Amino acid sequence: MNVCVLGAGTMGHGITQVCAMAGHEVTMRDIEEEYVENGLDGIRGNLQGGVDRGKVTEAEMAETLDRIDTAVDLADAVPGADIVIEAVPERMDLKKQTFEDVEALAGDDTVIASNTSSLSITEIASALEHDERAVGLHFFNPVHIMQLVEIVVPEQASEETVAFAETFVDGIDREPVTVRDSAGFASSRLGVSLGVEAIRMLEEGVASPQDIDTAMELGYNHPMGPIELGDVVGLDVRLDILEYLREELGERFRPPQLLKQKVRAGKLGKKTGEGFYVWEDGEIVGTSGDWGDD
Ligand code: NAD
Repeated sequence: MNVCVLGAGTMGHGITQVCAMAGHEVTMRDIEEEYVENGLDGIRGNLQGGVDRGKVTEAEMAETLDRIDTAVDLADAVPGADIVIEAVPERMDLKKQTFEDVEALAGDDTVIASNTSSLSITEIASALEHDERAVGLHFFNPVHIMQLVEIVVPEQASEETVAFAETFVDGIDREPVTVRDSAGFASSRLGVSLGVEAIRMLEEGVASPQDIDTAMELGYNHPMGPIELGDVVGLDVRLDILEYLREELGERFRPPQLLKQKVRAGKLGKKTGEGFYVWEDGEIVGTSGDWGDD
């Protein structure tokens, strides 16, 4: 199968890699040669890591790289693709424009997918003339490690499009879940619910960040507690998602004041060195503020 991936950033290069590893011919497109090269470097690095850990053979690495083509011009990337997956920045206007541009170059049967993590696929699909071929394919970061892909079904999708998406996700060794297009899909809506309640518990002085995280790690077998996960994702990203979910789904997603304060103070989590925890070299070295647990 021929796959076209738009965007060579965090998600685009990962999606390209898993599709190529599954045997598809992939063209990865970004708007500048430099971004395409960065994406390719990321793929090489991931594959080399796999070789070093004995999970990927040298031959598999070479074959995977052989199946990847790159492009800067959209017209060199889209024609001939069976499926186009966009992983461009999370802006509705850009997603709609991208869908429209893709449709002008794609074959009649090409499925057009978006990797949006929160935007309405139904609205993105409205940019297409043949909107029954649009679907959401929500991959998770890092794509080459994470098994889940949420198939998000917009109002307009045909049964053929959904069936194609399910077969495609199976074929790239990922585990699909199928959800109707609604704010936060299944994953973000539930994940963010847990995170927001944990922050409210901090506000109410129920327990320290570590104790809340430990409760979920040891009591519920979560690999990472909700407070730490918020710091890893980025508290600004969390706040944006909450504001969107509040608008779409109601007051239960109202962002806590404590989260807003953190973002206003530039304490965005791991990426800035401080959020609810203090971070050094990617590791937690303490908690931010006094939670009475030191
Ligand atoms: P990113 O900023 O790392 O990469 C986006 C890339 O798209 C950039 O390299 C940019 O140059 C390129 N780009 C911009 N306009 C383009 C165009 N018209 N055609 C082709 N490429 C273009 O962003 P990302 O984190 O990879 O996110 C991409 C999408 O994936 C977003 O919709 C995001 O919500 C979603 N997503 C992200 C994550 C995550 O953890 N980062 C997880 C799931 C889904």
